[in-house]
Amino acid sequence: MMRERIRVRGQVQGVGFRPFVYRLAGEAGLIGWVLNDGHGVLLEVQGDPAVIGKLAERLFSEAPPLARIDHLERCPVPLQGEEGGFTIRESERGTADTAVTPDAATCPACLAELFDPADRRYRYPFINCTHCGPRYTITRAIPYDRPNTTMAAFPLCEACSREYRDPLDRRFHAQPNACPICGPSLELYDAAGYRQNGDPIAATLARLQRGEVVAIKGLGGFHLACNARDPEAVARLRRRKGRDAKPLAVMAANAESLAGCVEWTEAERALLTGSERPIVLLRKRSNTDSELAGCAPGVGWLGAMLPYTPIHYLLFHEAAGRPVDGAWLQAPWELLLVMTSANPGGEPLVIDNDEALRRLSGIADAWLMHDRPIAVRCDDSVMRVDAGGAAFIRRARGFTPQAIPLPHAGPSTLAVGGYFKNTVCLTRGSEAFVSQHIGDLDGAASRGFLAEVMEHLCDVLRIRPEQVVHGRHGDLPGSQWAAD
Ligand SMILES: [Zn+2]
Ligand SMILES: [Zn+2]
Repeated sequence: MMRERIRVRGQVQGVGFRPFVYRLAGEAGLIGWVLNDGHGVLLEVQGDPAVIGKLAERLFSEAPPLARIDHLERCPVPLQGEEGGFTIRESERGTADTAVTPDAATCPACLAELFDPADRRYRYPFINCTHCGPRYTITRAIPYDRPNTTMAAFPLCEACSREYRDPLDRRFHAQPNACPICGPSLELYDAAGYRQNGDPIAATLARLQRGEVVAIKGLGGFHLACNARDPEAVARLRRRKGRDAKPLAVMAANAESLAGCVEWTEAERALLTGSERPIVLLRKRSNTDSELAGCAPGVGWLGAMLPYTPIHYLLFHEAAGRPVDGAWLQAPWELLLVMTSANPGGEPLVIDNDEALRRLSGIADAWLMHDRPIAVRCDDSVMRVDAGGAAFIRRARGFTPQAIPLPHAGPSTLAVGGYFKNTVCLTRGSEAFVSQHIGDLDGAASRGFLAEVMEHLCDVLRIRPEQVVHGRHGDLPGSQWAAD
């Protein structure tokens, strides 16, 4: 018999790590406990040394999909007598859950439930679990608990609450957990602001197939969507948005559905299908401009992405005729949607429902919206694969606020960034947190967005910067903010 204390650092909070340890320890017959604290996850296990060694290996080899272990330390501690089994302990007060993880695409287990007519979340647009769903964009403050997220207004029903409390359930402590009884709901509004009766997904798809432009509320903001294979719809969207030539990103049900339009390598496919779901720039084929006229004229690339919220998946599922088995998820489908950020006139992304109705009036023909607020704007990330590997063009949803390790620890620093394509950066110890893409600081709205992001990042990371770094141009908005 021996007892070990194991410290796990990295992205290990809010990703189902404690229930994972609980399950492994239970299977191995080890006693002890696990908890979250200010440094990550801490556990103690007691039992056969070989079994403990095996558990430590499995922590790496079988970690939950969204977990990332940066560091694991093991040290022997004295045996304890009175424990009866293995428990998940309450976090220590004031030190708990310091990590907020990025938003992640709907996981395979949730997709299986979403398309199962017998499941209680069949076609429920807000299905999620500890392996997927909204995180950063619903978090207002830490600790990362439901009252500190935009899910605070939706008390859990009895069935959801049972899942939330059960360490063996995939939804144990899944803060955005919801179902049709207790969670947010989806509604479609027309251009006059009237709520439409009937199934919002079916009605949205019908409008898209008729050539309409629909504003769709996503994770970090609204998209403007239209049928990418309808040149008139694409031209209409461009005209109304005032976007003449810049390429528009396209969403497909899966990589197979893009095969006729673009080429990809295995590395590009891995980026496309990863839980971060960035827009990936893919090489166009000779027929791309005839298949998708007006989407990406005059450039060699098409920006493509795969669905990342249940709402996106439901639109493609509807277009496929609501198949009941999962095979459709790998089959090629005709439907391709333009999904471009709803940021009229280059201003920050629209996030509130009222704001969407107002600012997208005259641009969208209909609004597919819901009552789960977005805590902070966050655009789609854009990536490409070049000779050096995967590279960011825009780092935002799916990656923010993932920490970037620094070689040395230092005082907490806020760097306010430049005028064009602005981002800000906060450091804590030996970690750097680069904000989502903010954009050019040429208008009052984008400067407001800059202030909003800095305050939100300080709140969700619980950092009070000790120093501010800014450019010497005193007229830069970031410098002015720093001076204030
Ligand atoms: Zn899930
Ligand atoms: Zn519920």
